Amino acid sequence: NKQIILKDYVVGFPKESDMILKTSETINLKLPQGCSNGVLVKNLYLSCDPYMRMRMTRTEGSYVDSFTPGSSTSHRLKLTVVTIVEAVSDLIFATLQPITGYGVAKVLESGHANFKKGDLIWGFTGWEEYSIINAPEGLFKIEHTDVPLSYYTGILGMPGMTAYIGFYDICAPKKGEYVFVSAASGAVGQLVGQFAKLSGCYVVGSAGTKEKVDLLKNKFGFDEAFNYKEEQDLDAVLKRYFPEGIDIYFENVGGKMLDAVLLNMRLNGRISVCGMISQYNLEQGEGVRNLLTLITKRVRMQGFIVSDHYHKYPKYLEMIIPLIKQGTINYIEDIVEGLENAPAALIGLFSGNNVGKQVVVVARE
Ligand code: NDP
Repeated sequence: NKQIILKDYVVGFPKESDMILKTSETINLKLPQGCSNGVLVKNLYLSCDPYMRMRMTRTEGSYVDSFTPGSSTSHRLKLTVVTIVEAVSDLIFATLQPITGYGVAKVLESGHANFKKGDLIWGFTGWEEYSIINAPEGLFKIEHTDVPLSYYTGILGMPGMTAYIGFYDICAPKKGEYVFVSAASGAVGQLVGQFAKLSGCYVVGSAGTKEKVDLLKNKFGFDEAFNYKEEQDLDAVLKRYFPEGIDIYFENVGGKMLDAVLLNMRLNGRISVCGMISQYNLEQGEGVRNLLTLITKRVRMQGFIVSDHYHKYPKYLEMIIPLIKQGTINYIEDIVEGLENAPAALIGLFSGNNVGKQVVVVARE
């Protein structure tokens, strides 16, 4: 079993070398005793998601737990031994915990009444070839298999639900409204823009390369798009694209972009605070100066966590599956082959290397 393990808690910008690939020679493809309610799965596709950076930091009381680093105090000695004495590495390896995250997997053995051998699932799994999931209640069984399976890391999984809840529920869009989306070509952003067009809105997106800006306009149907890295004055560029102001801002990046948007919000505008990726690698977040607008323009700014809303997943599927099949919605993925390439893919999110949803293929079946 190959596994990706976080070496130690990360400070600042994460590096590929913060994670290591460990290989164990023997694989026991059986549910261990004492795990009678769990499932043993073969991981197929893993999802790289920006929130995983927060799990690389030692945090308490957050909505997600920190990863267990392989060389944290309790494990550092064992890891050293692994590198020195390969013969006992399997034994020691069993105590190391891989990174966990969303993925798509196939059930090999099940002790849980909801799952059986051969089922395909998406949900929380390990960054490894095979995982034992002790509490599989949180997993989603995949019923529609006539779409790419990898979509369950993106449009049919957590990012899809994020765009759906963050746009329709939090922003309550109305026809003709002016919508701005940051990190617009990513896993979530590309969907928000298309949902905005389906709602009859005018939508502009920002992204970090010319290729992404072209995709926004030509593949996802945004009315306008710009490369924020080429703009000195974000306030001026927003005024250019939104002479009458912004009704809805779908916030993915935070920092300077948020400050510029605040200066351009319209009366009774809504800001859906989905993420602030520009802040995740900072020890101390950048200050936001223009919050006064929330009062003067009566703006509602609301954060949300997608997993609070998973009860609406069946409703989302009802909407999105036909849109995919009719070709009304496009979805772009950035697919990397091999578990060993997962660390580079994950940290690439923070320099915008990914074009579309970042997926890692562990196995195709
Ligand atoms: P993306 O696929 O959009 O990948 C991240 C993108 O962010 C990069 O490609 C890059 O694009 C952009 N980016 C990276 N660093 C910066 C920076 N410093 N300033 C501006 N842009 C930057 O990721 P997702 O679609 O998966 O996630 C988008 C946002 O949604 C994230 O903030 C994430 O944390 C959040 N999220 C929140 C959830 C919730 O429940 N609230 C659930 C899922 C996601 P570019 O080239 O354009 O710079």
